[in-house]
Amino acid sequence: MNQNRITSLFKIQYPIIQAGMIWCSGWELASAVSNAGGLGIIGSGSMYPDILEQHLIKCKAATNKPFAVNLPLIYPQVADHIDLIIKYQVPIVFTSAGNPKTYTAKFKEHNIKVVHVVSSAKFARKAEEAGVDAIVAEGFEAGGHNGREETTTLVLIPMVVDAVKIPVIAAGGIASGRAMAAAFALGAEGVQIGSRFVASVESSAHINFKKRVVEAGEGETLLTLKELTPVRLLQNKFYNDVMKAYQRGATKEELSQLLGRGRAKKGMFEGDLDEGELEIGQVSGMINDIKPAAEILHEILQEFHLVTQKLGNVKF
Ligand code: NDP
Ligand code: NDP
Repeated sequence: MNQNRITSLFKIQYPIIQAGMIWCSGWELASAVSNAGGLGIIGSGSMYPDILEQHLIKCKAATNKPFAVNLPLIYPQVADHIDLIIKYQVPIVFTSAGNPKTYTAKFKEHNIKVVHVVSSAKFARKAEEAGVDAIVAEGFEAGGHNGREETTTLVLIPMVVDAVKIPVIAAGGIASGRAMAAAFALGAEGVQIGSRFVASVESSAHINFKKRVVEAGEGETLLTLKELTPVRLLQNKFYNDVMKAYQRGATKEELSQLLGRGRAKKGMFEGDLDEGELEIGQVSGMINDIKPAAEILHEILQEFHLVTQKLGNVKF
């Protein structure tokens, strides 16, 4: 594949970016994806600063290719994480869940590329005004925390592409070369892939969660808890408890109490499939095996080339 604005910006071979996913994307997954020619991301939202530091050291030892850190701006110790990102000269930061105006200038001072994750064209414009280098536009299909607007990837990507001049990376529902080709047809110049990489050998997700993702079928995830932070989850006992709470008209406070603390860790990292939060995308219904990350990336690329070739031959 030739270079495009995304591969040039990140100095990578292929415009495939592995999403920063709390509890699932530590240094092992990030370095495996970067070594395979994509961009690996350490999901720092679930890491205390000392843990992030360990992961930065290990990631740098495991790859000499560029990698990034995903920094949810609502993270309680965001300033400590930023200091570490600067100290370890991480070349790229993906910010999410917050205002990109707050830290973009600081990262730029240190020559760090900034990408912001949005779920609407309105926020894409704001991020561009704040000076970010690229946008991740994430559709309703995506796993985990998600926008309130419920705009699907098919609708969101062209809207965002038309709204900004900077390059757009498509996310939400992409786990195959077919989906990558569709995203490029909509104007994206890169794809960000989360769920498929959860079911990789190198992901730090608990094996119970990886197996559950492989078993998941069509329609098994739903977006819920919009009153708190909207999140797409696999249906399980915890999810059913949330539904029962809605049925009895639970208040926001009651929902918050039911969610409690550390549900995501319990489900995805400790493998408690009943009581934990199991954050994954709709596309989990199409994921059927656990494979090394490099194999996943190359299969996606191969299919992308086949599909784009085939489409190139379509004449009416
Ligand atoms: P290592 O292989 O160096 O070490 C694994 C560590 O993880 C061990 O210390 C082990 O503790 C601990 N661990 C294993 N399962 C759990 C669990 N269910 N809950 C809490 N701790 C657990 O791992 P890495 O280099 O991959 O990771 C370094 C650190 O980063 C570890 O502390 C790990 O927990 C954390 N991590 C955090 C992630 C996140 O998203 N927040 C993702 C990946 C790792 P022991 O064997 O002593 O019980
Ligand atoms: P909870 O409030 O339920 O739990 C916080 C979890 O984060 C705990 O498991 C805790 O680990 C871990 N943690 C790591 N560093 C810190 C810290 N400095 N202070 C407190 N807790 C810390 O949060 P969730 O599991 O729902 O969310 C986890 C993280 O995901 C949030 O902290 C936030 O940064 C991020 N997030 C990202 C979003 C996005 O990217 N769009 C949206 C919403 C949240 P332990 O159990 O070991 O104490």
